[in-house]
Amino acid sequence: MSIPDNSASDFIRNIISNDINSGKFDSSIITRFPPEPNGYLHIGHAKSICLNFGVANEYGGICHLRFDDTNPTREDVEYVESIKTDVKWLGYDWQDHLYFASDYFDQLYDFAVVLIEKGLAYVDSLSADDIRRYRGTLTEPGQDSPYRDRSIEDNLALFEQMKKGQFEDGTHVLRAKIDMASPNLNLRDPTLYRIRKMPHHRTGDIWKIYPMYDFAHSLSDSIEGVTHSLCTLEFEDHRPLYDWFLDVLQVHRSQQIEFARLNLSNTVMSKRMLRDLVENRHVSGWDDPRMPTISGLRRRGYTPEAIRMFCHEIGIAKRDTEVESALLEHCLRTNLNLTAPRVMGVIDPVKVVLINYPEDLVEEFDAVNNPEDLSMGTRKVPFSRELFIEREDFMETPSSKFFRLAPGKEVRLRAAYYITCVDVIKNVDGLITEIHCTYDPDSRGGSSLDGRRVRGTLHWVSAKHAIKAEIRLYGDLFVDTTDGDNGGLLTDRLNPHSLTVMTECYVEPSLAESSQGVTYQFERQGYFCLDSVDSTPGQLVFNRTVSLRDSWSKVNKS
Ligand code: ATP
Ligand code: MG
Repeated sequence: MSIPDNSASDFIRNIISNDINSGKFDSSIITRFPPEPNGYLHIGHAKSICLNFGVANEYGGICHLRFDDTNPTREDVEYVESIKTDVKWLGYDWQDHLYFASDYFDQLYDFAVVLIEKGLAYVDSLSADDIRRYRGTLTEPGQDSPYRDRSIEDNLALFEQMKKGQFEDGTHVLRAKIDMASPNLNLRDPTLYRIRKMPHHRTGDIWKIYPMYDFAHSLSDSIEGVTHSLCTLEFEDHRPLYDWFLDVLQVHRSQQIEFARLNLSNTVMSKRMLRDLVENRHVSGWDDPRMPTISGLRRRGYTPEAIRMFCHEIGIAKRDTEVESALLEHCLRTNLNLTAPRVMGVIDPVKVVLINYPEDLVEEFDAVNNPEDLSMGTRKVPFSRELFIEREDFMETPSSKFFRLAPGKEVRLRAAYYITCVDVIKNVDGLITEIHCTYDPDSRGGSSLDGRRVRGTLHWVSAKHAIKAEIRLYGDLFVDTTDGDNGGLLTDRLNPHSLTVMTECYVEPSLAESSQGVTYQFERQGYFCLDSVDSTPGQLVFNRTVSLRDSWSKVNKS
């Protein structure tokens, strides 16, 4: 067991360091990430993954991946597989510690029997509504169920019949016998088992009863010898119950510690809401690039390094806050700036004709692949008489602050030549179809012989060499939610402009070799990656991962 140098960096690592120093646990540190396989993981889960696996790595311990699959109604193997893929992609390894709460169903059942034998659990036959009514409120104590004093023998017999499937759903539950007057509602005889005659994705038809979360979770932690069970703040009130199970059953005592969950501006972070978006086809799937899911972020072009950097930046605290999504984007840009190959692509093209450039001449220019990392080398970019530039890089009657192309104005084409606009051709509707320019042969490579300077540098592609591509631009999935109105339908807050599809884009020919999983910087336009679902060699489809403008570092520069 080792205490790393950064061990005092947050309150959880402090607790763990102290536990190691005081010799509280015999084993090395064991944490766990316990997702319920009822949806895809989102960026909030990434916080928990980075914490649990991060702590285990730092202290030379291990982190288990345990599926909390105790509720067959919404669980599925599709989710199990996606969760494994996402955790691995984030860069973490559970080694051979892959577990399922359903593997413990026999043991959990035996624990429940022990509780009955100790007089600490009983079968209740009240209806669900009555159980709720008897439970009391925060200001009023609950009342004992009329079935609370059933004999141990009756309870054992009934519980076994429940297990054998001799009763219908909802007719009986097994409850812990704790205290119906406890100020903590979680201790008012919580339900341990309910009847669910439903097949389970791993245990099939074997079980007719399924354990409840609190019971299964604390005992699964204990069975696995987890030392520190890190969970989000809403479980703080459940800790007395967590401890109660471990105490009365006299089993290994894991330490539950709560931390604040991640909330991110302009998005939702609940699996139920994300599932609604998928099922009601507001998005194309769990991996839609607008989704805050790990698979959505991956398809959008996020890197695991950026997500880990983000989780490190936000840190671990006890107080719930909302983090600006600009911080996540800032981490992404910081990472991609160092690693992304630079290329040129024109999203909204207009043609430029260089009237003094030879008809059939093709030149090749060397362009730097990444000015932040010269070891990434250069590539050849072809140049010819007809080019595409960005429509917004031209203004027929420019304002005084416009330094790009305009009639009579000279600009630099990146890595190529200086050009000057001499004429504008329009169609009958007044739309500009061609911009005629002259080029200065003495400015080859992008600087003039006479030291003449220009203010603007534009990206471009050669019309006859460029590859036509589709580019998808994304905005926030939800419109601003800061007006405080959390009521109403989620769908009312969907941003109708969250997806813009540009179908007539042109990218430089080197992108014919572009690979899935690489995020490129399109000069002046942001970061882009091939869409892993819809892009084909014959029809390239790019997602804009993020634009270049970093609102976070602007606001937070001191
Ligand atoms: P739901 O949204 O359906 O209530 P959940 O998001 O809590 O579910 P789980 O599968 O139970 O999903 O979560 C697995 C683990 O991830 C839990 O330990 C949970 O505390 C943690 N987790 C979930 N959401 C967040 C979040 N926003 N920030 C930090 N940790 C989270
Ligand atoms: Mg949960």
